[in-house]
Amino acid sequence: MAASKVLTGARVVLPTGTVAAGRVIVDGTRIAGSAPETAETVDLSGQWLVPGFVDIHNHGGGGASFTSGTVEDVLTGVRTHRLHGTTTIVASTVTGEMDFLAQRAGLLSELAEQGDIAGIHFEGPFISPCRKGAHSEGLLRHPDPADVRKLVDAARGHAKMVTLATELPGGIDSVRLLAEHGVIAAIGHTDATYEQTVEAIDAGATVATHLYNAMPGLGHRAPGPIAALLEDERVTVELINDGTHLHPAALELAFHRAGADRVAFITDAMDAAGFGDGRYMLGPLEVEVRDSVARLVEGGSIAGSTLTQDRAFKRSVTVDRLSVEDTVRALSANPAKLLGMYDTVGSLEPGKYADLVVLDAEFDVKGVMRRGEWVVAPNEGHPVVL
Ligand SMILES: [Zn+2]
Repeated sequence: MAASKVLTGARVVLPTGTVAAGRVIVDGTRIAGSAPETAETVDLSGQWLVPGFVDIHNHGGGGASFTSGTVEDVLTGVRTHRLHGTTTIVASTVTGEMDFLAQRAGLLSELAEQGDIAGIHFEGPFISPCRKGAHSEGLLRHPDPADVRKLVDAARGHAKMVTLATELPGGIDSVRLLAEHGVIAAIGHTDATYEQTVEAIDAGATVATHLYNAMPGLGHRAPGPIAALLEDERVTVELINDGTHLHPAALELAFHRAGADRVAFITDAMDAAGFGDGRYMLGPLEVEVRDSVARLVEGGSIAGSTLTQDRAFKRSVTVDRLSVEDTVRALSANPAKLLGMYDTVGSLEPGKYADLVVLDAEFDVKGVMRRGEWVVAPNEGHPVVL
């Protein structure tokens, strides 16, 4: 059991607003309302204290992929993102053979049972060949509800989200099936029209998988999925805020149309996140990472990102000029609510897990705590890659 700590002096971002020189008390794994006299005091003057980040769409990091590799590899990816402030992570898979994905779901569900990951997101194979991005075309299939069900069952209660091209045969029935099982149906890698997207939302789809990327653009006579996803209060839109996937003006448009409570900043990270340039595999496809941008060797499609959520935070505040409070919503509170985990993570409130990030005045990570333990001890410089 971790000792009690009182974190003092920082600007603390709470759901109700920011408190100058606030106090957060950590008792064991949780945030507490009062401190025992024996508590250790940690002075965080001049820094920000924000909730740990929640990433609902992440394929790996630290040289490791969640779609392939051993349990230890997956943990390497999870730990790499923790160093960058992501204390709750959903492991995303890319398109593969059905049997292979079911097998991966088995392995990942064990890590979910241990609390290392928050669950599983299947991105593919139920996506559109017209908008396949970095997924293998030969392995794509229609979202037959029986197949969707097979993956959900293989995840043993830990399937959190499935990305679907809902306009394909079986798409709407699959959305209904997922909604009935409490799994998020996410619209993405889609060639749907505006009208088809509205139909999928009405059937129960609640997330836009990396809005703008891998879907038709916003046309004035054919507004497509983007307009439908942005206008509907029931939908949370994922945005990859790395400066490569989205033009700042596109991000600004989405953020202001959806509002700060309906945006989730995700990484869509692949192996190279927190690791470096070079050659990698994304599922069965080869990827070249140059200057931190991941592209398929064949065709040059953007193949996930090398983003970490601390960089998304800094960019949001310093480049996008969003408020710290709205940035916290997009990185912590909104994704936690979406996962149904807001009672334990996503804000700094007594009773919740002591998952938090210390940022300096330039919004660089100075400390990360998860479940009451320092992953990166504060005031010891930048996190290092494992
Ligand atoms: Zn994708």
